[in-house]
Amino acid sequence: MIEVYRFTLEKAERAHENTIWAAPVIEGSIRPPFNHAWGYLDTKTVMDKHAHAHEEVYFVFEGEGFAVVGDERKPVGPGDVINIPSNVPHTMENAKDAPFLWAAFWWNRDQDAPALRRTKAKAEAAAKELHDIVERFAASGWDLIAAPAKAWLEGEENQDALVKAIEQADAQCGSCGCELDALYKRALELKALL
Ligand SMILES: [Zn+2]
Repeated sequence: MIEVYRFTLEKAERAHENTIWAAPVIEGSIRPPFNHAWGYLDTKTVMDKHAHAHEEVYFVFEGEGFAVVGDERKPVGPGDVINIPSNVPHTMENAKDAPFLWAAFWWNRDQDAPALRRTKAKAEAAAKELHDIVERFAASGWDLIAAPAKAWLEGEENQDALVKAIEQADAQCGSCGCELDALYKRALELKALL
């Protein structure tokens, strides 16, 4: 079933020192990776001016008024999108004899969406695994692989030479039965992360 939601005053509660009405924008089964609320100003009222660490965006849906962000004050109406940088005091003013409605979305920049966080964690784990493997190569005592591995660990941009050396090592000794056999193959799988 398609989920469609809209603002109604019945669902709204007082917010921002009782200066506005607020209600969730997104309801039901949707789990967005950001926070949100409708803001609704009665005629000729002003929202309590406030600031916060998170960034925020307002989308104006209905009515006309003013957005105040920092020292600036601009007339805004339906379709306008207002950028509110972090820690900048901001408010909305309804100058008309009609309701003023906008949707606010806010998020923490250091707080990635859960899906992105998982992808990042996986990539970090793979990079760590590869780094550990290269350390094993560096300590192998086999110059073919140890020399380029050490150079890479010291920060040299020798990815291509290291990959070539791993390929050569895998070809020469990749099935000799030693504990490095599997590591050559794994390193080659992860070589894009070098
Ligand atoms: Zn705000």
